[in-house]
Amino acid sequence: MFAEPSARTQDLLDRMRAFYDAHIYPNEARHHEELHHRRRADTQWEPLDLIEELKPKARAAGLWNLFLPHSHRAPEGLSNLDYAPLCEQMGRVMWSSEVFNCNAPDTGNMETIERYGTEAQKDQWLEPLLRGEIRSAFLMTEPAVASSDATNIQCSIRREGDEYVINGRKWWSSGAGVSNCAIFILMGKTDPDGPRHSQQSMVLVPRNTPGVTVLRPMHVFGYDDAPHGHMEIVLENVRVPASNILLGEGRGFEIAQGRLGPGRIHHCMRSIGAAERALELMCKRLSGRIAFGKPLSQQSVWAERIAESRCMIDQARLLTLNAAHRMDVVGNKVAKADIAMIKVVAPNMSCKVVDWAIQAHGAAGVSQDTWLAEAYAHQRTVRIVDGPDEVHRNAIAKIELGKYAPAK
Ligand SMILES: Cc1cc2nc3c(=O)[nH]c(=O)nc-3n(C[C@H](O)[C@H](O)[C@H](O)COP(=O)(O)OP(=O)(O)OC[C@H]3O[C@@H](n4cnc5c(N)ncnc54)[C@H](O)[C@@H]3O)c2cc1C
Repeated sequence: MFAEPSARTQDLLDRMRAFYDAHIYPNEARHHEELHHRRRADTQWEPLDLIEELKPKARAAGLWNLFLPHSHRAPEGLSNLDYAPLCEQMGRVMWSSEVFNCNAPDTGNMETIERYGTEAQKDQWLEPLLRGEIRSAFLMTEPAVASSDATNIQCSIRREGDEYVINGRKWWSSGAGVSNCAIFILMGKTDPDGPRHSQQSMVLVPRNTPGVTVLRPMHVFGYDDAPHGHMEIVLENVRVPASNILLGEGRGFEIAQGRLGPGRIHHCMRSIGAAERALELMCKRLSGRIAFGKPLSQQSVWAERIAESRCMIDQARLLTLNAAHRMDVVGNKVAKADIAMIKVVAPNMSCKVVDWAIQAHGAAGVSQDTWLAEAYAHQRTVRIVDGPDEVHRNAIAKIELGKYAPAK
């Protein structure tokens, strides 16, 4: 059923692949070099020239804002099913999705403002985000509590007259490092004594508000992921207008559930793209490298690993396409088991395939000379972000067991 993309998606995919051949793959070394020079000059938290140069080209090619379904502000947006092969393509080069304004966490943040924001909030923040002029961050996780359980969040959002006063500490706020990150969507508690799932609210916090201090970038296996980064942030008596609340007090948990569905499936789509590229590199390397008198591809376990990779990638893709389809037709809430399943399957699959590709490359596989080490570091984080594997497995098991629960 999902083997072939729709005609529109196929056309976009052809154009996107041509764009990768012309502008993305040939610039992978330049991206690396620009970041290297930026770090030496201590300017790594500024937007990269390369990305800013490529964005207008992608926009002119009609490859812009493809992620956002059902928004008159972004009519080019596709359904989840149609977007899947394009997002997979973007997973082949980690930094590339921003060129198309389709990068996390901005996509999830734009979708949140589109779905839950007022028209005034959309005019002020969504429009410049859709134009790619500013960036955003999502501040939920906190160092002091187990944040995979969002009810643990402690950050205080206290109403005072026409303002909210915010106090708390967040970390792993992806995207908050870059200098043009202008807006945070922050989750905290407006009613710490209320019912468990109604204590939380989300507010828009402009990054330049007094009391906001971006402390440090968190590193992923040593990578700082500049220029966007994953920042630790302290908020001390930060005051924002009461009109900055999203949807209303006590609705934060509900928004988090709505936001995380699309964000999760986009991670999975990109994970499949990363695995596909890793398999490609693995096959080429093993075919061209001779040891003990014959190509590595003809020795011991490699045929087995290549075949297993192909099976695992295609299984994960079909499951992801099915989840995308279900999100389109029954909505994110009803499709929650489908989303949970791919969130477990896709990154575990990509970690395994990238790991085998690293092994096939020997020492080069863990070095800066291949894309694999960075890809592994990133794929490994996907098993934790937006809910760790165990939390999703719990959700799947709960739904499964619920089918056989004794009638009360
Ligand atoms: C690269 C990266 C980017 C991120 N970006 C963002 C971002 O932009 N915004 C943001 O708010 N957060 C972000 N995060 C944080 C991420 O969402 C959290 O790390 C994640 O939700 C887990 O929370 P925690 O780290 O507090 O782990 P904890 O909640 O302390 O959990 C630790 C471990 O306990 C286990 N565990 C937890 N619950 C269960 C359970 N019910 N059953 C069994 N085992 C369980 C899991 O193995 C889990 O990994 C990012 C993280 C990374 C690594």
